Amino acid sequence: MGDPRRRIPRTDLLLADPRLAKAAHDLGPALVKATVVDAQNRARAGEIDVDGIVEHAVAALPVVASTLRPVLNATGVVVHTNLGRAPLSAAALDAVRAAGGSTDVEFDLASGQRARRGRGALAALAEAVPAAEGVHVVNNNAAALLLCALALAPAGGEIVLSRGELVEIGDGFRIPELLESTGARIREVGTTNRTTVDDYAAAIGPATGFVLKVHPSNFRVTGFTAQARVEELAALDVPVVVDVGSGLLRPDPALPDEPDATTALREGAALVTASGDKLLGGPQAGLLLGRANLVQRLRRHPAARALRVDKLTLAALEATLRGPAPPVRLALDADPAALRERATRLAADLAGRGVEVAVVDSVAVVGGGGAPGVELPSAALSLPAELAERLRAGEPPVVGRVERGRCLLDLRTVPADADQRLLDAVLRCTS
Ligand SMILES: *Cc1c(COP(=O)(O)O)cnc(C)c1O
Repeated sequence: MGDPRRRIPRTDLLLADPRLAKAAHDLGPALVKATVVDAQNRARAGEIDVDGIVEHAVAALPVVASTLRPVLNATGVVVHTNLGRAPLSAAALDAVRAAGGSTDVEFDLASGQRARRGRGALAALAEAVPAAEGVHVVNNNAAALLLCALALAPAGGEIVLSRGELVEIGDGFRIPELLESTGARIREVGTTNRTTVDDYAAAIGPATGFVLKVHPSNFRVTGFTAQARVEELAALDVPVVVDVGSGLLRPDPALPDEPDATTALREGAALVTASGDKLLGGPQAGLLLGRANLVQRLRRHPAARALRVDKLTLAALEATLRGPAPPVRLALDADPAALRERATRLAADLAGRGVEVAVVDSVAVVGGGGAPGVELPSAALSLPAELAERLRAGEPPVVGRVERGRCLLDLRTVPADADQRLLDAVLRCTS
């Protein structure tokens, strides 16, 4: 018997397997070939059996031609930035698929002429916020702020901003630095804990482009504090831009401290900026809403082209605005008793298969730099801590959180129709 590693079949022979041939058609030959070569290498290293190369390659094939993998978010963080923020609704995903090919995003089928890009999504946004005279959509909220600075505080113009609102959003992203990168200057006013309308008034001069109010969305300052209200600032003679962050379009009784676009506009904001993929539950996008003439100036700025969104974003945004409640909404509104019931049912199934599991009360959070003080009562499966890593390595990967020596799977962020998948994933890690 010669060295079995000599017997490794040639790549082209392996690729002739009908399952691999179909995969090459669906996913592209390069990806499938790489999977086969990987399996050959493992056989050569003695890690797998030579006769099992094809089976191994078939099992290792990705589902789609991208390395981004769908995961079950059991962290209890509703808007989890590292897990892609808002999961899209089925309606939004369908809209993305429909718009993925050639589409009339910028074309009027009746006349055969060019049409306003993304008019459907813009109309949906305008309908959702009647207080806005004009609306525009860019790549994300950071892009919306950038465009405001470029268009409204050009050539060293000043942006008046409270010292209490010099905010870092996360991963080193600081709003003042973003604004200054355009050449605009930040005119800081007030103190960390208190800023009055007089502080703003004293700073306003010929160089002022606009007053910016940033919602301190991911932290809270309590105690001896005061911030000027939008109504007071609107009485000053410069545009007030309000970054509400979270993307709430209207007040939400469940999140009473979270600012929303409609209220800010009613209070006199000239422009509001917000994210599309936080509490709105849509795709990554920056929403700009406000006075028609200012929105027009933003749209006409040369940089608007560099910040514009693609057809997939427009499709998902419109479907989020017009369609059924997206997963973020459902997660926020979930009834704690119903979550407890789901957890109890899952735990009974798991215990019946010999898994060491308990149901515990949990506290979920909004996340994504939103509503930092809000605690959402929830229910979780409590599993041995060492399962956390195995669950992440499974298919689909399940991401929980480790707390006080246990791995918790919080059901508030797991869609109700994913319970069976969650159950199967846990069973695969424990059997
Ligand atoms: C999240 C957030 C941003 C950044 O939004 P992106 O859409 O991630 O660019 C800016 N400002 C506030 C207040 C935020 O909460």
